[in-house]
Amino acid sequence: MLLTRMIDGLANAVCLAFAVIAATAMIESKPANARPSPDFHRFVESLWPDAKAAGVSRNTFDAAFAGLTPDLSIPDLDLPGRPKVDNAGQAEFTKTAADYLSKPYLEKLGVQGRRFMKEHEAALKRIEKLTGVDRYILVAIWGRETAYGSYHPPKDAIRMLATLAYTGKRKERFRVELIAALKMLQMGIPRSDMKSSWAGAMGLTQAMPTEYLKYATDGDGDGKIDIWRSVADALAFTARQLQGKGWARGERWGFEVIVPPPSDCSLEGPPDARPIADWVRMGFRRANGKPFTRNELKQSAYLMMPGGAYGPAFLAAQNFQVIRLYNTSDLYALFIGNLSDRIRGGGDFVTPWKSFAQPRTVTVHNLQARLKELGYPMDKIDGKIGSNTRKQIGLYERASGLTVDCWPSEVVLRHAQSQATR
Ligand code: CA
Repeated sequence: MLLTRMIDGLANAVCLAFAVIAATAMIESKPANARPSPDFHRFVESLWPDAKAAGVSRNTFDAAFAGLTPDLSIPDLDLPGRPKVDNAGQAEFTKTAADYLSKPYLEKLGVQGRRFMKEHEAALKRIEKLTGVDRYILVAIWGRETAYGSYHPPKDAIRMLATLAYTGKRKERFRVELIAALKMLQMGIPRSDMKSSWAGAMGLTQAMPTEYLKYATDGDGDGKIDIWRSVADALAFTARQLQGKGWARGERWGFEVIVPPPSDCSLEGPPDARPIADWVRMGFRRANGKPFTRNELKQSAYLMMPGGAYGPAFLAAQNFQVIRLYNTSDLYALFIGNLSDRIRGGGDFVTPWKSFAQPRTVTVHNLQARLKELGYPMDKIDGKIGSNTRKQIGLYERASGLTVDCWPSEVVLRHAQSQATR
């Protein structure tokens, strides 16, 4: 039975692949000409009860899927022959910190951001007053997501979400997003506006459909919501998203710090969060030499070193975590934080990034798995270099008498593999 199902699945996948190859040339311009496979057709029909319950009409539903085929060229799909561990589409996890936080790019976005801040100042101040969310952060998110609206994602959001809900690695999540996107169509949003990157996010700030349904708002007061053309609408929407995720009014995202010599990168991560006053007592200080204010000293923050010992260190405050809820990546949150500071008039990080090798995803994955076998609390074996991965590597390195750099490498992996399992 299982074998039959596997062969079925494989045959379907092969059929799909052929259908896609055959239809590729015409899909973009004439989706009605493409023939969906029976399997995909069954999947689409399985969506109908949920769509109907969400208030989507049969007409809207049928029009949304007419001639639609899955796009098997996008990343993060669960297909036979594709490696289980791949983050091909996510720059946050495949680039080094220094590449992701590209100085020339941040500089350029900073200069443009100051101009746009001026242009939209009245609306942004109003939004900030209403929601409490720092207007410099809002402009930075706009800059990061679509280079201030100059990037126009080319894909059809319904097709992307349908593909990810059909054969993605996180089907349930994208199924919910797909139903929300159908609801957006039902609300009268034209299909031609619903363009996205491969992950299905839309508008000037690249937001997911469920977020749109929950938080979209009329920011410029013209009686309509247009997150594609109105900067005030898009940024008011983003502000409400961040407010809903717990933004702390009047507080910074975080602080670049200098780590005192006896402490090290293995103190990194949310479980070691403590009031900034405690970090100061341990010898941490702001990298720019300014003192923390009395209010800041009371705030809780955790140490974050995205390049391990090979780059700047940060105390990540509550609003850093709110930005991470918006897009779950330390580098993304840092990019937004630094860009917002640049728009405010600041500049580069004080501590430079040293050159260091970005390990292969499979190396990170195997090291995580091995450390877990050795009894280290690895919550995720996902090949991504998050806070806990760096921290546990640091603790392992310290316990093993290795140089403590909190960074995954072949050297640490080989060392860990040579140890007897406890
Ligand atoms: Ca509006």
